[in-house]
Amino acid sequence: MNPEYHFDGQVLCVTGGGRGIGLAIARAFARAGARVCINDLAAERAQAAVAALQDEGLSAIAHVGDVGDEQDVRALFAAIDQQWGRIDILVNNAGIEPVHSILDHPLSDWQRTLDTNLTGTFLCTQQAAQRMREQGGGVILNIASIAGKSQPLYLRSAYAASKAGQVGFTKEAARELAAYGIRVNAVCPGVIITPMTERLRNDEAQMQRWRADIPLRRLGTAEEVAALCLWLASDAASYVTGAAWHVDGGKNMA
Ligand code: NDP
Repeated sequence: MNPEYHFDGQVLCVTGGGRGIGLAIARAFARAGARVCINDLAAERAQAAVAALQDEGLSAIAHVGDVGDEQDVRALFAAIDQQWGRIDILVNNAGIEPVHSILDHPLSDWQRTLDTNLTGTFLCTQQAAQRMREQGGGVILNIASIAGKSQPLYLRSAYAASKAGQVGFTKEAARELAAYGIRVNAVCPGVIITPMTERLRNDEAQMQRWRADIPLRRLGTAEEVAALCLWLASDAASYVTGAAWHVDGGKNMA
C-alpha cells in the first residue's frame, strides 16, 4: 500500500497508536520507511502493536503514557531523543469519546476528554515543535473529527468541543510554527471502522441513516485516514499548512 511515499530515516511519533486509526498510521509510515514510536495508555496494546510491526521487519518502539499528563509527555519525547535523537512527524491521534447528555454530563468526563483530546495535542505539539525548530522543520498532524469542523454528532458535547479546539489550535500552530519550517494540519475523519465506533456501528438503524447521507455510501477505514496523513506529511504537500481536511466519503463538503 502507498508505495509512492518515502519517509526513509524519518522519525514519527503517533499517540494512541496501539489500535485503530493510530495503528494504521504507524504501519503506513513504517512501511514507507519511517522509524515509529507508538504511544498508548495500555502497555500490552502498545507492545503488541510494536511487535506486529517488528514482525514485518519494520522499525518501531513503544512508549506507555497519558498524553494529558505533562510528565508522561516529557518522558515520551525523552525516550524518542534517546532512541533516535530526532522527531520529524508528530501525529496527535489519542482520543476518547464519552457519550452523555449535556444535562447531566459528569464534569470528570468533560475534563478527561479535554485533557486527552485537546491538552494532549498541545503538550505533544510543544515538545515536538521545540525539537523540530532545532532541526529546521517538521510536520504535525492533528486527528480531529468532522465533529470539530462541520458535523454535530449527538450526546458528544465534550468530544465536539475538544475537536473544534484541535482545529482552532491547528490554525494557530500553523501560523506560529511556519517560521521554523513546521507545517501543521488537521485531519477530520467521518465514521471510521475502529473499536471507537463499535457501539455506533452495532446500531443498524442508525447506520442505515448515516450511510444514506454519505455520498460514497460506506464507512471509512483506518487505512484511508492513514493515506491522507501520508500525503500531508510528504513533500507533495509542502505548500499545505493550517487546513482541516475531511476524510468522510463526501459527507461534509464545506
Ligand atoms: P480507538 O479508541 O480505537 O483508539 C484510540 C487509542 O488511543 C486507544 O488505544 C486508547 O486507549 C488511546 N488513548 C486514549 N486516551 C489516551 C491517552 N490519554 N493517552 C494515550 N493514549 C490514549 O480510536 P480511533 O482509532 O477510532 O480514533 C483515533 C482518533 O481519531 C481519535 O482522536 C478519534 O477522536 C479520531 N476520530 C475517530 C473517528 C472514528 O470514526 N473512529 C472519527 C473521527 C475522529 P484506551 O482504549 O485505553 O483509552
